[in-house]
Amino acid sequence: MPLLKLKDIHYYYGNIHALKGVDLEVYAGEIRTLIGANGAGKSTTLMAISAIFKPQQGEILYHGTSLAGRAPDEIVKAGLCQVPEGRRIFPGLTIQENLEMGAYCRRVKAAIAADLEMVYELFPVLGERRRQAGGTLSGGEQQMLAIGRALMSQPQLLLLDEPSLGLAPLMVEKIFSIIERIAGEGITILLVEQNAHAALNLADYGYVMETGKIILEAPAAELLRDERVKEAYLGE
Ligand code: ATP
Repeated sequence: MPLLKLKDIHYYYGNIHALKGVDLEVYAGEIRTLIGANGAGKSTTLMAISAIFKPQQGEILYHGTSLAGRAPDEIVKAGLCQVPEGRRIFPGLTIQENLEMGAYCRRVKAAIAADLEMVYELFPVLGERRRQAGGTLSGGEQQMLAIGRALMSQPQLLLLDEPSLGLAPLMVEKIFSIIERIAGEGITILLVEQNAHAALNLADYGYVMETGKIILEAPAAELLRDERVKEAYLGE
C-alpha cells in the first residue's frame, strides 16, 4: 500500500481550474519528485496534501485512510509536514525558537530537546548561531532552518516545495545531499522542484506536471533519458 495516494484531485481558485485530476502515489522509504514549469500546479498539489487547500473533487489517502475533513495541524500530527516555498521562517525569532515552533504539536520535552540536537548535528551552522535571529541567515541557511523546523515535527513524510529556489549551485548541492541524508534516516520525501536535473538525479521516481495534470511518470533514471523531458526540462 502506498504511504500517500492522490486520486483524481481537482482544485479550483475561483474559476481557475488549477488541478485537473491529479493521481500520484508515494511509497514509504522513497524519494519521489514532482517537476514542472512555473504555474503547472505543483505547489497547489502540496497545499492540497497539507489540507491548506481543500480539493473540490478527489481523495487523498494516507496509510490507506482518507484525510478529508482533517485540519492542517492534524495532518502535521499524523506525520505529514510541508516545507513551504520561500522558507517562511520567522525572521524576528531566534534560530532555536524557529525550530521549537516546529515541535508545537508535541508534548514530551526530553524528546524535543533530543531532536533539537539532531537538527544541530545535521546543520552545524544552525547550532553555532542558535541565539541569532532567523532573519540574519543567508537564503541557503534559511532553507536549512525551514527543513530543520519541519524535522522537529517528527515527520514520516516530508513535503518539500522548491528547496533550491534562489540558491547558488553549491548551496543547491548541499541542500540536496542533506535531503538524501534525511531520506537515509527513513523519512519518505515528496520533492517539488523546477530544477528537474537535480531533482531527478536525487529521486527514485518522478512525475511531470503540465497545466494541472500529470503528463508523464516513470522511474527518475528513465525520465532523465526521456527525449520529451530532456528537451522541455533539462535543456538538452
Ligand atoms: P510555482 O513554481 O510558480 O510555484 P507551481 O507549479 O507550484 O508553480 P501553482 O503555484 O500550484 O504552480 O499554481 C497553479 C496555477 O494556479 C497557476 O496557473 C497559478 O497562476 C494559479 N494560482 C495559484 N495560486 C492562485 C491564487 N491564489 N489565485 C488564483 N490562481 C492561483
